[in-house]
Amino acid sequence: MSKKQPDHKEGGREEAKLQSPKGMRDLIGEEYYRYQGFFEKAAEVAIYYGFQPIETPMLESEALFYHGVGEHTDIIEKELYSLRTKGGDRLALRPEGTAPIMRAYFEHGLQSQPQPIMLYYHGPFFRHDNPQKGRYREFYQFGLEVLGSGKSITDALIIRLVNTILTEAGLPNLTVEINSIGDRDCRPIWKRELVNYYRKHVKEICADCRERLKDNPLRLLDCKQAKCQTLKAEAPSIISYLCTPCKQHFKEVLECLESMKITYTINNNLVRGLDYYSRTVFEISITFPESNGVSATPNGTSTAIAGGGRYDYLAKFLGSKKPVPAVGAAIGVDRVLAAPGIANLLPRLIKKPKIFFIQLGTEAKMKSLSVIEILRRSKVPIAHSLSKDSLSTQLGIAEKTNIPYAMILGQKEVIDNTVIIRDMRTHSQDVVDLTKLAEHLKSLKS
Ligand code: AMP
Repeated sequence: MSKKQPDHKEGGREEAKLQSPKGMRDLIGEEYYRYQGFFEKAAEVAIYYGFQPIETPMLESEALFYHGVGEHTDIIEKELYSLRTKGGDRLALRPEGTAPIMRAYFEHGLQSQPQPIMLYYHGPFFRHDNPQKGRYREFYQFGLEVLGSGKSITDALIIRLVNTILTEAGLPNLTVEINSIGDRDCRPIWKRELVNYYRKHVKEICADCRERLKDNPLRLLDCKQAKCQTLKAEAPSIISYLCTPCKQHFKEVLECLESMKITYTINNNLVRGLDYYSRTVFEISITFPESNGVSATPNGTSTAIAGGGRYDYLAKFLGSKKPVPAVGAAIGVDRVLAAPGIANLLPRLIKKPKIFFIQLGTEAKMKSLSVIEILRRSKVPIAHSLSKDSLSTQLGIAEKTNIPYAMILGQKEVIDNTVIIRDMRTHSQDVVDLTKLAEHLKSLKS
């Protein structure tokens, strides 16, 4: 189909653009399999660690995010896709997975089941940000949440799991940065000191930091502007303000990481901008030598590929009388798959075709759907072009698909109840009896 737009305007509507919206894209072909391969690998690791799957809707009530994530966070204030339905409801495309999962926890009465509840999810998330390399408006996350436990071992479990998934995906040079941002007893004292400190220097800070000082002072520590760096380095550090229980919690998490030999760096400027975080926050980045368009470090270029933390007050923000301590993380799948060194994780559920099926002559075409059914029952995925007749056309298509084997069913093979299996790389061929076909195909190298 030509990319030219249809030439008619109906009812004053805009012409349809044959192009996905800015910052959003189709996953198709090889790329689809790579995403699927990662999701399956990550889900497998999560399942072995005792997590259960959950899928929440793409749309939620807008209020869930206002109350859950916080009105003065970038992802709500600047980046939320919100809409009013024809029925008048205010909904929003989910910008993150944690608030919806907490909503689902209450909606399904999961607080009355044995705690903690451990869930994993994956899918698209939406933030109306400026698209650039590694930043999309629709992007994919794989997330993990442990709800109903305040114990430090669950923080370590989440970090361990994210680290294992990323390592299994073949990513080298991972850096785990961790911090504690305290709780409702100690954080306000630190926050007050931080605000006082920045107020004294208000003339020296950038315009964004002046906004942050008013709305979300913790985010002052996220500032990347050169002019704010010295001030930031000398700002009051949370670590000196942590109360005894928060200090103890943090110490336990770090001890757990050490016992698992997970190397970490404490970064007291790591706050992660969302209101719901308390105590542990962490981020995992990958460093690679050449520039990939993201912030450079002395050792190369570093990209944040996963982040998370504890969110003991989210349940209260959403109106629960009983606290539900919880911890979770999200992996940015688009960035993982763009990272150098990523393994080729082959999907097992949605498989790539291994065989290109070619049929020649009327009898063969008639028999072809029965042959495909034999293969389906034996779980051998195929590609074909049943609508074509000539051998050279079908072989030509098979060559283009890069599928390693072709299976040819001609007049003679129909009579003999056989097929020819052709290795597309070496061009060697074998005649195989249909009754032994599934067994034979399983023995072939991919
Ligand atoms: P967050 O939910 O902001 O903690 O993000 C967790 C991870 O998701 C980040 O470390 C990124 O890898 C990824 N991520 C967040 N926003 C985007 C985006 N707009 N485009 C692509 N990946 C993103």
